[in-house]
Amino acid sequence: MIRLGFYGAAGEVTGSCYVVTTDRARVMIDMGMHQGERAADEHNRRMPPVDVAALDAVVLTHAHLDHCGRLPLLIKHGYRGRIHCTDATADVTGIILRDSAAIQMEDCERFNRRLRRGQEPCQEPLYDVAQAERVLEQLATMGYGQEKTIAEGVTISFADAGHILGSASVRMVVKDGARTLTVAFSGDVGVSGSPILRDPVTPVPADVVLLESTYGDKDHKPLGQTREELLAVLLDAQATGGKVLVPAFAVGRTQDLVFHIGEFLRAGKLKSVRVFVDSPMATSVSDLYARHKEVYDERAKQLLSQQMAPLNFPGLTYTRSVDESKRLNDAKGSMVIISASGMCTGGRILHHLYHDVSKPQTHVVIAGYQGQGTLGRRLVDGARTVNIFREEVPVRAKVHTLGGFSAHAGRSGLIAWAAPFRESKPRLFLTHGEDGPRAALRDQLAARLGLQAAMPKYGDEVEL
Ligand SMILES: [Zn+2]
Repeated sequence: MIRLGFYGAAGEVTGSCYVVTTDRARVMIDMGMHQGERAADEHNRRMPPVDVAALDAVVLTHAHLDHCGRLPLLIKHGYRGRIHCTDATADVTGIILRDSAAIQMEDCERFNRRLRRGQEPCQEPLYDVAQAERVLEQLATMGYGQEKTIAEGVTISFADAGHILGSASVRMVVKDGARTLTVAFSGDVGVSGSPILRDPVTPVPADVVLLESTYGDKDHKPLGQTREELLAVLLDAQATGGKVLVPAFAVGRTQDLVFHIGEFLRAGKLKSVRVFVDSPMATSVSDLYARHKEVYDERAKQLLSQQMAPLNFPGLTYTRSVDESKRLNDAKGSMVIISASGMCTGGRILHHLYHDVSKPQTHVVIAGYQGQGTLGRRLVDGARTVNIFREEVPVRAKVHTLGGFSAHAGRSGLIAWAAPFRESKPRLFLTHGEDGPRAALRDQLAARLGLQAAMPKYGDEVEL
């Protein structure tokens, strides 16, 4: 009997975790962090109802925190087996988990420092750096298209997901007695035509398919249009001598923006430009993009063959130290500063906003999703003043929301990903989406491809 359990990203976007069980093997796919919701911390401490120490293998689709962020908990609860992923995912996971562990430890300490009467202290962080390091020791890497038997009767291969560096969809062949069943896990599906990475590949054929549905209800603005909007902002800033501040996530978005600006230069649309990537984590991730050329698409390879790095151009500086970062506050003239955090909830971007958001010649480019209650969201919503470092700062900068740089496929992309299954009609489950987008995608898949999809809830277990 083959069973599939949904222990995260079922009716929500974060906390991905699925478990496939046969009489002979138990395999987990992703162990992600729950993020954003009120009860996220409590949710993260609750382990899925499986004997973690008895798992035979774990598979990781990609290094985003909502997919890898709780792997250290497996170690904490006695898992000593391998965690299979691509080479690039292994490297990115190292950066993400060390950072996450440091944040968990800081959060716990801060909570205890500000403890109010009657409150229970934080006994221990979700996990610490040592536990994160243990995950890295247990990673086992493999390339796209290779096959590997990871547990008795369970073989996997990775297909390009085109989402972030190293991201993969998983095709899992499961043997149970005389029966053989193929299960495809989409992971997060990227956007065709995105910079540097190859386009998503559907892992066909499959008898059972799990498809993400983050943007199942809408399409993003076309990438070409968004690129033009970015170019217009850069040209305007150069004409007026203003700074362009870009809060951006360290993994993916920063590298995409650097690539696009480089392409403007290479195409002669910009004569020159000064760009500072002011985020140590983004800089480390950019180094990994430079190292993992095996994932490059045709355009990136073409640049390499012409002795050009996709993520480098004259005028680009990766700042490391805090002093270098602070010096940018007093620097004169037009420049682009790409800095974390992506939603302006912390990090160096706060200094830059504090110094420049009150100047009318400043541009703020919002290139990613801004959660409710964040400073980024207040800027998007047109706040006249914002509170930074406990001071009300007037907003005179022009705030631009550019919608076309998503790392996630929109509705059309998801349908295109599922289209190769039109004939074979596998059993289909929609995951990794809130119920609105998920239901919208379900209806579209039925109308356009004749595919019927289920919408599992947290804790559901089905027999395959
Ligand atoms: Zn992702």
